[in-house]
Amino acid sequence: MSDNEHIILERLRESGALLSGHFQLSSGLHSENYIQCAKALVRPGDVQFFALELIQLLPLVDYIVSPAIGALVIGYKVADIMGIPFVFAERGGDGKMTIRRGLDVPAGARAAVIEDVVTTGGSVREVVQLLQKAGVKVLKVVSMVRRNDIRNFEGTPFASLVYLNFEQFEKEACPLCARGLEMEKPGSRKN
Ligand SMILES: [Zn+2]
Repeated sequence: MSDNEHIILERLRESGALLSGHFQLSSGLHSENYIQCAKALVRPGDVQFFALELIQLLPLVDYIVSPAIGALVIGYKVADIMGIPFVFAERGGDGKMTIRRGLDVPAGARAAVIEDVVTTGGSVREVVQLLQKAGVKVLKVVSMVRRNDIRNFEGTPFASLVYLNFEQFEKEACPLCARGLEMEKPGSRKN
């Protein structure tokens, strides 16, 4: 892990986005760590910090595009600092990612897609596909955090500020359970 990644991790911890303890993930597996990126985007100073870090990963583009909802704040802030438009995609009634509300990214424009956390990458992949289909040049995908080893989306390079590869355990094999550590509910934990 690079020095910069340590700085990012520290900021995630300070903001309460990255927790250590004993957690049950939505998959049902147990983990010593838990990430809730929304917590890193509560304070404007934190948003500014992460946006400036992400901009260092970006080439020159005309548009920032983010999938709703988690990436709206960080995507907008990056666009704000770069002085370019921000457009978001959202799931329509058919369950597919679409750009609605009269928003548009014109064919031929250069765009970067920004996400907060990439886990399976499903939403990001859909956004990249819909932009490419519309003739937009998607130059890069960036995220604050990634949880797996994805390197690109439909040929578009992907980079993140930090790679969090938490160890996950079945309940029966969980060393934290074995040590009798109480399970914490991240949503109700006070930081
Ligand atoms: Zn456990």
